[in-house]
Amino acid sequence: MLDVLVIGGGNAALCAALMAREAGASVLVLESAPREWRGGNSVHTRNLRCMHDAPQDVLTEAYPEEEFWQDLLKVTGGLTNEKLARLAIRESSDCRDWMRHHGVRFQPSLSGTLHLSRTNAFFMGGGKALMNAYYRSAEKLGIEVRYESTVNRLELKDGRFVAAHMTSLNGSQGSQRIEARTCVVASGGFESNLEWMREVWGQNDAGEWPSDNFAIRGTRFNMGVLLRDLIDQGADTTGEPNQSHCVAVDARAPLYDGGICTRVDCVSLGVVVNKHAERFYDEGEDFWPKRYAIWGRLVAHQPAQVAYSIIDAKAVGRFMPPVFPGEKADTLEQLARQLGLDEQAFVKTVQDYNAACKVGTFDHGVLDDCHTEGLSPAKTHWARPIDTAPFYGYALKPGITFTYLGMKTDETTAVHFGGQASPNLFAAGELMAGNVLGKGYTAGVGMTIGTAFGRIAGVQAAKAAKAQMADKASTSTTLTEDHHAAA
Ligand SMILES: Cc1cc2nc3c(=O)[nH]c(=O)nc-3n(C[C@H](O)[C@H](O)[C@H](O)COP(=O)(O)OP(=O)(O)OC[C@H]3O[C@@H](n4cnc5c(N)ncnc54)[C@H](O)[C@@H]3O)c2cc1C
Repeated sequence: MLDVLVIGGGNAALCAALMAREAGASVLVLESAPREWRGGNSVHTRNLRCMHDAPQDVLTEAYPEEEFWQDLLKVTGGLTNEKLARLAIRESSDCRDWMRHHGVRFQPSLSGTLHLSRTNAFFMGGGKALMNAYYRSAEKLGIEVRYESTVNRLELKDGRFVAAHMTSLNGSQGSQRIEARTCVVASGGFESNLEWMREVWGQNDAGEWPSDNFAIRGTRFNMGVLLRDLIDQGADTTGEPNQSHCVAVDARAPLYDGGICTRVDCVSLGVVVNKHAERFYDEGEDFWPKRYAIWGRLVAHQPAQVAYSIIDAKAVGRFMPPVFPGEKADTLEQLARQLGLDEQAFVKTVQDYNAACKVGTFDHGVLDDCHTEGLSPAKTHWARPIDTAPFYGYALKPGITFTYLGMKTDETTAVHFGGQASPNLFAAGELMAGNVLGKGYTAGVGMTIGTAFGRIAGVQAAKAAKAQMADKASTSTTLTEDHHAAA
């Protein structure tokens, strides 16, 4: 019988598969996507947040455990499991040698990625290259991968994994039942499931269904099928269905897989207005990597789920330029017309903001003293008048990265049923990220969580499979001895 069945084909799944194989287990990976779309949201990533006590190859200075933990505590507002969070943080300090061993290469952060050179290790070639490296390594180690294989249901008995029921993408091979000694589920969140998103976000007072206007930044294959199945079968959950990593992306982004090229990163350098040309939040609240993931939700609560990021010529060159150019105009009136905003209202909003700016020493690398006075909402840092042509505007809409509702786990990543840990069913990655991320986000922590708990899940699954074999061997020895004694 197969030792470890891994469900999912992203970072967490491959980390689990590789670790289980290295521990001597036989491993089969079932990935919903066709080969060319393999890798889930992980192919879209660029970096991993890492703890380190001194400069390390691509990482500058130090980023100690305590600082990482405080950052997490702040962004989650305390909605985090400290034990699991610290475990992930510590694991991030020494996982890169293992990643390199499997062919992952790192590079220093590029200028424009804002304050990340100290905290985040960037993958050379991005997440696509990272996933390709892991798949190559898996193949070399004899791990079987089946693509276009969606698991619809887990067969469980008293919290114990028995078998997975799957269908191929086009259903050509009918339904199959796959038994294994242990199973790691790493099938992501449910962000790609538009119906489920609609259910969670509901209808607003204006009668709109906000999630109808969301882009899904990553894969279309994270439908939450097993999340739903496990919940229906009584697994303990963590995180709220409506919590997610949600970024404001270019409003022209496609429904799925727009990836990072739809990011617009100039919010903290200007102002953001809604479709009534009104500002609605402090654009300079904190460094962009600590705030970019709240803007999707903020825009989701605006009329028509749309907003406009406005900057002037002074901001150009200070942020990663968006791949797709925005609107450009020589006057504010013209920019308003191009964006379809009420001209008078827009100009008044910008003029009020300009008049309220108290410019000190502008420095985008620190929480500087440029702020507004007497304006609501305030802009607390990097506030400089928008007065230098040309002016630029980018239409934004919410872009969901991943949802936080998931399986409640412990340090072994075991899925729990009524508070009891399953002996042979483990969860990793987005499917359990909600244990650490109750809300909020800090850049690079998704891959920290997936790598840490994917690796742990692989080791635990291999261990549980071995224990089962040992149990079976001792039972059959006892049975044989009993048999001889009886004879
Ligand atoms: C545009 C974008 C940029 C990002 N950038 C970063 C970054 O730079 N740093 C960072 O830390 N995080 C980043 N993230 C978040 C990061 O992608 C996730 O935290 C991480 O990839 C989660 O890994 P995972 O393996 O749990 O899920 P995924 O990589 O999404 O993998 C889930 C897998 O499960 C498969 N699957 C789903 N359902 C089934 C089923 N029923 N049966 C079989 N297979 C199934 C899917 O096909 C997929 O392969 C980014 C996300 C996006 C979308």
